[in-house]
Amino acid sequence: MLNDLSIIQTTCPYCGVGCGISAVVNEESHSVNIQGDPLHPANVGKLCSKGAALGDTLSLDGRLLEPHINGQVVDWDAALLLVANTFKETIKTYGADSVAIYGSGQLLTEDYYVANKFMKGFVGSANMDTNSRLCMASSVAGHKRAFGSDTVPGCYEDFEHTDLIILIGSNTAWCHPVIFQRIRAAKQLRPNLKIVVIDPRRTATCDLADLHLPLASGSDAILFNGLLSYLNKEQALNQDYIDRNTEGFTLAIQTAEMSAPGIAEVAAQCQLNETDVQYFYDLFKDHKNVMSLYSQGINQSSSGTDKVNTIINCHLATGRIGQSGMGPFSLTGQPNAMGGREVGGLANQLAAHMDFSKVDDINRVARFWGSDNIATKPGLPAVELFNAMATGKIKALWIMGTNPVVSMPNADFIKHALEQCDFVVVSDCIAQTDTSAFAHVLLPALGWSEKDGTVTNSERRISRQRALFKPAGNAKADWWIISQVAKRMGFNQAFNYSHPYEIFTEHATLSSFENDITHGYRDFDISGLATLDQNSYENLQPIQWPVNTNNPKGTERMFADGHYFTPTRKAQFIAITPRPPVNLPYNDYPLILNTGRLRDQWHTMTRTALSAKLNQHSPVPYVEINPVDAKNYNLTAGALAELESGWGKMLARVKITDDQTLGNVFVPMHWTAQYASNSRMGALVNPEVDPISKQPESKHTPIRIKLYQAVWQGFILSKAQLDLCDVSYRVNSKGDFFYRYEVASQELPDPWFNTLKDTLNANSAEKPEWQIYQDASLGCYRAAQFIKGQLNAVIFIAADHKLPERSWLSSLFAKVTLEPAERRALLSGQPPKGSHESGKVVCACFNVGEKTLRACIKEKQFKTHQEVGQCLKAGTNCGTCISEIKALL
Ligand code: SF4
Repeated sequence: MLNDLSIIQTTCPYCGVGCGISAVVNEESHSVNIQGDPLHPANVGKLCSKGAALGDTLSLDGRLLEPHINGQVVDWDAALLLVANTFKETIKTYGADSVAIYGSGQLLTEDYYVANKFMKGFVGSANMDTNSRLCMASSVAGHKRAFGSDTVPGCYEDFEHTDLIILIGSNTAWCHPVIFQRIRAAKQLRPNLKIVVIDPRRTATCDLADLHLPLASGSDAILFNGLLSYLNKEQALNQDYIDRNTEGFTLAIQTAEMSAPGIAEVAAQCQLNETDVQYFYDLFKDHKNVMSLYSQGINQSSSGTDKVNTIINCHLATGRIGQSGMGPFSLTGQPNAMGGREVGGLANQLAAHMDFSKVDDINRVARFWGSDNIATKPGLPAVELFNAMATGKIKALWIMGTNPVVSMPNADFIKHALEQCDFVVVSDCIAQTDTSAFAHVLLPALGWSEKDGTVTNSERRISRQRALFKPAGNAKADWWIISQVAKRMGFNQAFNYSHPYEIFTEHATLSSFENDITHGYRDFDISGLATLDQNSYENLQPIQWPVNTNNPKGTERMFADGHYFTPTRKAQFIAITPRPPVNLPYNDYPLILNTGRLRDQWHTMTRTALSAKLNQHSPVPYVEINPVDAKNYNLTAGALAELESGWGKMLARVKITDDQTLGNVFVPMHWTAQYASNSRMGALVNPEVDPISKQPESKHTPIRIKLYQAVWQGFILSKAQLDLCDVSYRVNSKGDFFYRYEVASQELPDPWFNTLKDTLNANSAEKPEWQIYQDASLGCYRAAQFIKGQLNAVIFIAADHKLPERSWLSSLFAKVTLEPAERRALLSGQPPKGSHESGKVVCACFNVGEKTLRACIKEKQFKTHQEVGQCLKAGTNCGTCISEIKALL
């Protein structure tokens, strides 16, 4: 405690890196100063722009603070009773498989454990799936096929000991920024560290790459089969390791050689340059310490599991696994996707890395939980779950901490499915989401800064997430909400928890229950944490599982002894015949849509969009397209485009870039109906799934694109929040002292515009003063509203998208009064002579814009990002923008 401040060690709630945070909390002002925790092994003090801005997201505006039934505030007892009774009645009438839970990688391990125990152990159905299905189910399936267990072999420290890092289907620079910083630092220290990026598009991650392979979408398995067959031809395999520790090599190599006999064939099928393929294969052959880091570009595919196994095959065949600086490494997307896997949060998992394939496992878990009604078969994975809902098979659904109306593929169909469901419960910390609109019951859950429990990151490291503040309003922990419903359904004894440490220690005890030579070993064993008392749980330090008698301080690397968790204790080669994506482009839909994350937003923006700082980097939904494709489809930079697939449509601003290969476009995943109309990319996405992992094909949707013919386009900056619903295109975001609205319409502007002016006038008790410029012949309309001499709003309308930049106009809202020159220049949208416009924000940490950077680089003739950093500080904190600064240089 520092006076009235306290310092609390906790964990970032965004990506799977799992960075430790040192939070200086001021309870009185409900504010927090966020710093990276220098003692946390995942990030040793570093944070990215999202983690560093967590303090901006803690406002209670928009929070769900009370339980609701059909839109009316009720007390907890009424809400819990309705949920319990409806679930009970539905099960009684239609059977246990008529109800389901759809959870989230945002849940803490303790929440996840209780939800899973409730559904699988006591409701008696395994219909509990999560949004982790959309993220890493293929990695889980690939691990299990190869290792007999869902085990990530290595750790982050390996990045500092390896000689070759291959980043496959991963924009690490934006999606796992602190890992990227670690890799950047390792390369600075050891310039001989080679980095290969395998991705159809050129991303910020390529900034560090010695080689970028922009392979054809979906062709990864061919590339890695080719690598295996090349290593075999070059006699670069570790035959001793293959013989001692693996099975299935002969069939795997025969199959690989059939699909990828030589470099020429691989290059042709992957649409790569032969020299580049040869260079990549030689890099792999010549470096003993190789790490293959892969992420959603591999997982989100109708052959994702196969792709994972082609990568693992190459590591097994060379024995490059289980030792320092080597191994395949799945980067998990969400903060607790790994914790969810540990408790069995996917519909095909049971608990503690046991599943439904062995009767012994089912009986074991039933005995441990004291349940006589345990589920005995897998439940429905996400896409099948919502399909079953649409046909009336799922009658009651409980959604926890996720937004499937935005994030699921074929997202308009998800709306339809929810409409068919008799009873929808949503637990969330945010009141209005695209999904909560379908809820019969809304249950207020704790937000990040109020939660107390554990999460597990990509390197198997369990960390504490600690509460910084008391619960907002009447919000409750997810584990508490589920337990209360369970008790009201009659499962009193099994859900009698009063503190998360009781849940954690039960979970730890289950991990070691009959986990021995007699019953067979399981990889997930945290028996060393099973006897924690409340105090030691409160003070638990980050630790990597397994944690047991043999490894009381945790385990950095797995499989060092060459033993795996298969029945023979040997790793399995999987023979892979590569399959193309399920829906290939054809005449009606000739382009391939790829999707992914942005640098400064997280998932469906429910939290990151609350930060003005984070909204500046990419304020509107966009589509990246190759210059040749743009020309073919009459698209110019900044224009609005309509994208359409066989499943849905969206609008996005055109960004023309050579980073996209011909025939491919990219759209960020984040925008929801709360922040944009007609811009949910999930509406377009291909709902085909991998036959093994059931993960959808989110990286490959055939689409078509055309210019969106708006009659007018414009933007509004306003001090007050506005309700702009009757325009065909709207994107809203929050600035520091204003709200920003980007708008366009296919209707004539006059009636809409007059209504807007009336609304702005009605918002003010004082008589507003207007400054107006109009040229009807050009479709140009510009206006500024002042109240008591202060700028209150600006409206800029044009016949097309060619409008002034918003940065200078936005900066004027921070001023009490405008200078006369600024006021004169206002409706030109340009700063007066001698003033400066910073341009689009590049460095979110220090708010440095593109125009400022360009001017500084030009004037001072800078050549390196370090020089720029010394002058403007840009890129010197989280470093996420360094690749953009380098591009400007
Ligand atoms: Fe959070 Fe960024 Fe660390 Fe991911 S890399 S855990 S988003 S601070």
